[in-house]
Amino acid sequence: MTRRPAGPGFETLAVHAGQHPDPQTGAVIPAISLATTYAQESVGKHLGFEYSRSGNPTRATLEACLTALEGGASGLAFSSGLAAEDALLHLLRPGDHLVIPTDAYGGTFRLIDKVHRPLGIDHTAVPLTDLDAIEAAWRPATRMVWVETPSNPMLNIVDIAAVADIVHRHGASVVVDNTFATPYLQRPLSLGADFVVHSTTKYLGGHSDVVGGFVAAADAGRGEEVAFFQNSVGGVPSPFDCFLVLRGVKTLPLRMDRHNANAATVVEALERHPAVARVLYPGRVDHPGHALAARQMSGFGGMVSFVVTGGEPAALEVARSTELFTLAESLGAVESLIEHPHQMTHSSVAGSPLAVDPGLLRLSVGVESAADLVADLDNALDRVA
Ligand code: PLP
Repeated sequence: MTRRPAGPGFETLAVHAGQHPDPQTGAVIPAISLATTYAQESVGKHLGFEYSRSGNPTRATLEACLTALEGGASGLAFSSGLAAEDALLHLLRPGDHLVIPTDAYGGTFRLIDKVHRPLGIDHTAVPLTDLDAIEAAWRPATRMVWVETPSNPMLNIVDIAAVADIVHRHGASVVVDNTFATPYLQRPLSLGADFVVHSTTKYLGGHSDVVGGFVAAADAGRGEEVAFFQNSVGGVPSPFDCFLVLRGVKTLPLRMDRHNANAATVVEALERHPAVARVLYPGRVDHPGHALAARQMSGFGGMVSFVVTGGEPAALEVARSTELFTLAESLGAVESLIEHPHQMTHSSVAGSPLAVDPGLLRLSVGVESAADLVADLDNALDRVA
């Protein structure tokens, strides 16, 4: 007999967490609350909201929903993924050191290297798939380890629980960028992470129509520290943007199931094509992180990277030639996208330890008919075979 889980299931939370029909109108979806300021009955006596940068009802609903999905103690929404990351990096003080992956979103590296390093926060990039490398990079001033798994664009898998063990032994914090997996496929806080960060621009929004970010904290007190920076720096999302992410999240489980299935079909097609030298996908049994991904995630996701045999010119030709896969940055939405990390999303890491192969292409496999996606890729690859 199947036992019901304690508490609502993920799909139920995705639709309902933090949300109730409006008691005055019966509206079944949360209102987009545009007011910038809120009446106070007497000084300091109010219904929980004072000024919309500090707190907004639509944002509070989104924060409650995403916090429930990540299993956090608290959560904060931001105007972009990078604003969310910046708030976490503000937890560090001049003289502190952090360990970052040699494989991360280029904008994350730029923020850490070009914005926070000049402010006195040093970093070391190591392959986080090698746990000994984390120990070797450790300094007395190390306060944080930044994990991205699956990573962008190499789709490496990092053992969150093992990293958390090491980091906590040293009394530091683990941040996991869960943008690629989403809480539907991976719940880093349950594996020991202290913070989860998202670009909600991607799968959580899911429709390429909103830029946003989110931080979930395992500990409410640490969450308060992040809330201080959310309010003090002010990188908050608009109420309309919060509504769009909330709407996207309702179908997250449905979309992710389809992304997983379509990606698996696309991977099989890429493996068969002579113009493809290497396919990077954690669902492949020969992927070095496959066993770990199978343990740590409940699906392998919709992101696929591959290297073409013809190097950069062939990669650029394929990127130019697909019709259904739109050549564009970003990922995680219903429509399929293709991009060339070396010249696009990861151009800011050129020449750094995070530089990527110029023959690499990254796919965000959407929810269209799998046969159409395969035909589109085959046509483009045939041009360079
Ligand atoms: N983290 C990952 C893994 C990303 O792919 C991105 C953007 O592509 C970000 C963070 C930054 O998010 P945003 O573009 O919403 O600022």
